[in-house]
Amino acid sequence: MYFSSTRGGQQHVGLDDALRSGIAADGGLFLPESLPQFSADQFAAATTLEEVAAILMRPFFLESSLLPQLPAILEETFTFPIPLVTLEGTSGHADVMELFHGPTAAFKDVGAAFLAATLSRLHSNDSEPLTILVATSGDTGGAVAAAFNERENIRVVVLFPNERVSTRQAHQLSCWGSNVLAIAVNGSFDDCQRMVKEAFADSQLVSNYTFSSANSINIGRLLPQCSYYAHASLTHWRATGRAPGFIIPTGNLGNAVACLLVKMMGLPVGPVIFACNENRTILDYYDTGEWLPRASIETLATAMDVGDPSNMERLRVLLGEKTLRDADIAVRMITNNEIQARIRADFACYGRVHCPHTATASHAYHCLTDKQRSEQDWILVATAHPAKFEATVEPLIGDTLDLPPSLLNIENRASDYIIIDPSIDNLRNSLEQRFQHGSNG
Ligand SMILES: *Cc1c(COP(=O)(O)O)cnc(C)c1O
Repeated sequence: MYFSSTRGGQQHVGLDDALRSGIAADGGLFLPESLPQFSADQFAAATTLEEVAAILMRPFFLESSLLPQLPAILEETFTFPIPLVTLEGTSGHADVMELFHGPTAAFKDVGAAFLAATLSRLHSNDSEPLTILVATSGDTGGAVAAAFNERENIRVVVLFPNERVSTRQAHQLSCWGSNVLAIAVNGSFDDCQRMVKEAFADSQLVSNYTFSSANSINIGRLLPQCSYYAHASLTHWRATGRAPGFIIPTGNLGNAVACLLVKMMGLPVGPVIFACNENRTILDYYDTGEWLPRASIETLATAMDVGDPSNMERLRVLLGEKTLRDADIAVRMITNNEIQARIRADFACYGRVHCPHTATASHAYHCLTDKQRSEQDWILVATAHPAKFEATVEPLIGDTLDLPPSLLNIENRASDYIIIDPSIDNLRNSLEQRFQHGSNG
């Protein structure tokens, strides 16, 4: 399988190069040149997530140097369960797909682990270490730091807005080994993202470091995410003979595009609903057909606070001439008030506690008509553990939440970060102090 840029300027790129570079040279995002086609029968012998992933991922690896290591890569990626838990007591059939049992309790652990497994193999023989730059407003940085922690010949530099992430999140970004440098920037998330972009364009830095990126512009985040949609849809199909619809909390559209890829590869996936927060760029596109990116606004579902979702570029290429409606996709916007009310209601009704992101999916489900619920089975995608967002969730349910074991583990580590003002010179000095003169050469 080869990959092409969504902007057409770079074509026929192998998987290894697409993973390494992250973004195409023309500024576009990589997509497979064609999609392999599957029938449910081809997965007859596959029951576990890893077995399904092995069949689904193989065509993408056929021309890659990593093909012989695909089983080991998948073993390193799927280290935690992704269960489907039935929501008892609704008028239809709904399962919750829990993607939050990984090391940092959010679905981004899957993509981060796969990137770590592939990039560390692609880089093991190079003399020059790989430096992964990540700007984060929360979940991405933690997942990437955890996945690359203590990896040989790879360093991670996490930039986050100083005092604009929760204490717990700051800790999760800064409690790793000497190959992970956490930098609190006196500025906003946008400042962090700008500094990362400037670093990629800085000739002096680029001659001293080999940079790569680990956000969802990298196709290596989307490919492994396809596996859990395939596994969930096959499991439901086998049990009921029906193709489930998916309701997906959506920000940058990375998780949603993975689901659409799986549907386009022929797996039994029904309609798809993007559950969005008050950032309305995707909803407006659904309503008017116009794509008008705007500045993001802060909501309770912080990881979905995106005003210019980068994976839209992939989605538009995949849709071609079709509208979202033609592709059986719906979009629903969920307000902060609805998120709060849904967390309360589902705790009272089902005894389930959602994180604010997952609450958007549950709310979209409860907004469906009775007919839509009785004629279609649904899978609600649960993207993070509620204990990650305890300041929002605990007052709503009037109870405290236990940390899952993975987060407890992280909580007990020592943490350390440096604070800098937002300039590329400060970033350059920090890199030099840590990596040129420091212990992790
Ligand atoms: C990143 C994230 C999302 C949004 O996922 P996208 O792939 O950016 O659409 C939703 N929920 C949580 C908890 C996240 O961390």
